Amino acid sequence: MARALETLSKPIVAPADKITLLPLGGVGKIGMNNMLIGCDGHWILLDSGVMFPDQRAPGIDLVLPCLEVIDRLEGTFHGVVLTHGHEDHIGSLPFVRMRHDVKVWGTRFTLGLVRARFAEHHLSTDCLNLVTPGERLQLGVFDIGFLRVTHSIPDCVSLAIRTPVGNVLFTGDFKIDPGLPCGTRFDEAGYRAFGQEGVLALMADSTNIQRPGRTVSEATVAEGLKAAIGEAPGRVFIGLFSSNLYRLHSVLAAARATNRKVCLLGRSLHKYLQVAKEWG
Ligand SMILES: [Zn+2]
Repeated sequence: MARALETLSKPIVAPADKITLLPLGGVGKIGMNNMLIGCDGHWILLDSGVMFPDQRAPGIDLVLPCLEVIDRLEGTFHGVVLTHGHEDHIGSLPFVRMRHDVKVWGTRFTLGLVRARFAEHHLSTDCLNLVTPGERLQLGVFDIGFLRVTHSIPDCVSLAIRTPVGNVLFTGDFKIDPGLPCGTRFDEAGYRAFGQEGVLALMADSTNIQRPGRTVSEATVAEGLKAAIGEAPGRVFIGLFSSNLYRLHSVLAAARATNRKVCLLGRSLHKYLQVAKEWG
């Protein structure tokens, strides 16, 4: 027991000759994506999400990763680099920020969502730094490239991380969809170029990736919605994930095409729409 406790309080070192990967959650389950990556005494946290409790945890609002681990990192902890704005990727950021004076890097829409979260916790947003796809960011020994990917929320990127030991590709969540309403395209050329440099470790995350076949494009969903709404004799009720602004776009486009009025219900839906309007 004493030995176990001693191990738990020991500093965590990142040697110079290898890449240290330390997931605080998010591996093998949906939620709480928090991946610490270390090399030569430098550390960054890739995404910082929460998990939502299930029926086994009544009265619990959010499940957070064990952030005490960050206190034990030996060397420099540079901060958090974000791939996209889903709650399971940004939800625990306010709690990281309350414990550590860290910087955060993310794309425009992702940071818009973080700003809203920080405002709820009365936290300053001075630590937030904007990145754009195609840009490179140097944090200690890490040279981080941002590759545009498509997913069910806008403004997502993969992280192409170059280290002295080798390259790491951290995909974040993605779904290769050539039919998004805003015309955003998955950066296939960027992926290919990084692949040709050689990738030591690929950390990929895409729901249902074990299932053969393809997921239909949002463009196909939009067509189906338009047909179904057009044929409906009365009111139509549609449930959707509030963060899926592409789906919301498809619903609004179908309503316009079929001359329908739309009533949006739900606090979260309004919040995402507000951020989308504010951050373009
Ligand atoms: Zn996601």
